[in-house]
Amino acid sequence: MELTNSYTRLPERFYQRTAPKPVRDPSLLVFNHNLAEQLQLDTSLVDDPQRLANLFAGNELFAGSQPLALAYAGHQFGGFSPQLGDGRAHLLGELHDAQGHAFDLQLKGSGPTAFSRGGDGRSALGPALREYIMSEAMHGLKIKTTRSLAVVATGETVRRETPLPGGIVARTARSHLRVGTFQFFAVRRDTDGLRALADYAIARLYPHLQNRQDPYLDLLDAVISAQVELVTEWMRVGFIHGVMNTDNTTISGETIDFGPCAMMSAYDPATVFSSIDHRGRYAFGNQPAIIAWNMARLAETLLPLLDDDEQAAITRAQACISEVPERLDTAWQNMMARKLGLPGANADDDRQLVADLLTHMRQEKLDYTNTFDALTESLTGAHPPDSLTVDWLANWHQRLQAHGLSETTAKSRMRAHNPRVIPRNHHVEAMLDHTVQTRDTERLKTFLRVLRSPYEQTEHTPQFSDPPADGDKNYMTFCGT
Ligand code: AMP
Ligand code: MG
Repeated sequence: MELTNSYTRLPERFYQRTAPKPVRDPSLLVFNHNLAEQLQLDTSLVDDPQRLANLFAGNELFAGSQPLALAYAGHQFGGFSPQLGDGRAHLLGELHDAQGHAFDLQLKGSGPTAFSRGGDGRSALGPALREYIMSEAMHGLKIKTTRSLAVVATGETVRRETPLPGGIVARTARSHLRVGTFQFFAVRRDTDGLRALADYAIARLYPHLQNRQDPYLDLLDAVISAQVELVTEWMRVGFIHGVMNTDNTTISGETIDFGPCAMMSAYDPATVFSSIDHRGRYAFGNQPAIIAWNMARLAETLLPLLDDDEQAAITRAQACISEVPERLDTAWQNMMARKLGLPGANADDDRQLVADLLTHMRQEKLDYTNTFDALTESLTGAHPPDSLTVDWLANWHQRLQAHGLSETTAKSRMRAHNPRVIPRNHHVEAMLDHTVQTRDTERLKTFLRVLRSPYEQTEHTPQFSDPPADGDKNYMTFCGT
């Protein structure tokens, strides 16, 4: 098995060639056997934990690896930084699945690069493990996401507010290209760079667009579709990304960067947990509006490729961007209707049913996951949630009947859209504390097993499906990996 690295075919100004900085005493904490198998990692490596620790710490390089740090820019909380880039990550190269799809393999926390800007290039162990847990959970929920192959404890200490044990997460992605990667070239008025980047993105992620008449407009449209779908999926399960900066918005439509992310328990669109999101820019209910904003930033970068005449380019990009809010709303309405077993939200009555439920859920602070789970189970005889009114329940049944849906059909649709369990904040935190302190991973493995089958009631599911006792009242998340 040799890694390839297609980024090295791009001009040198796209990246810095730089190797991970070896760590003192790497030890393998978790390893993702399923993903390793899917990405055809050498089986001889899989049974050698010390070798894996060395490889995923960057102390030893995989055959064929050409490590580099990618350049990007980005809007952070609305303010533009022309130069960000991988400041603590090394892209080692690409692995391939059995269908031949390439997946980036990147180490995060693997040492400083030219893009570190004074940062130490390291990551604490807790946040590395959080990324592993949350990305596996998202994958289990069938939501597009970067994934994690392994977490290594470095045997070193990183200095944050307090000294913390260091960690490295090995992350895989269909690609690490971000809206911010396009912004990096656009702000430099580097149209050749921009074209090379767009061609690379199309060839790698959207190859069916290669021979189109308008490939760059189609690329914009494809990224919009992917992101509309992604954010709608986040809304389905109560995921709050927490830091939807343009550098954390992928071109592939994968969820990326799990720093301050959290799950909503009681339904409230205003829910925010990130300690730095004072104004609620990235609140749960604001995520569709933010992705529309981020897509407008992507459109701006593409203007020089859309038409030689700037005004014509703007007109074409605007036609695409002006549709985004409505596309998001339609996708959200349909998704919510399906959470109630309905085929979609074509009828006003169906939309009203959803709206009434959500108003009630917000007023009564009902748990998002457990309310929809209980409604799902109520179709096969379980008692519906007491907190819902008889009137609303009668309306719901009437809408199901109006669509000619049997309870079994409605239930199976609901079961596919409503998880029984999500990675609840209090369980994730308890798991991180326990694992970082003891380095015992037995509980973590049980948790991960549950999260990998979130639409099923497994033996251990009930252990993790309780809402937080205090309603996540004082829960706070932090960016710092
Ligand atoms: P993130 O919060 O992970 O999206 O990172 C935002 C930017 O800050 C990226 O350019 C990172 O590479 C950089 N960064 C974050 N933490 C560090 C660190 N400890 N050392 C160097 N760069 C960092
Ligand atoms: Mg980031």
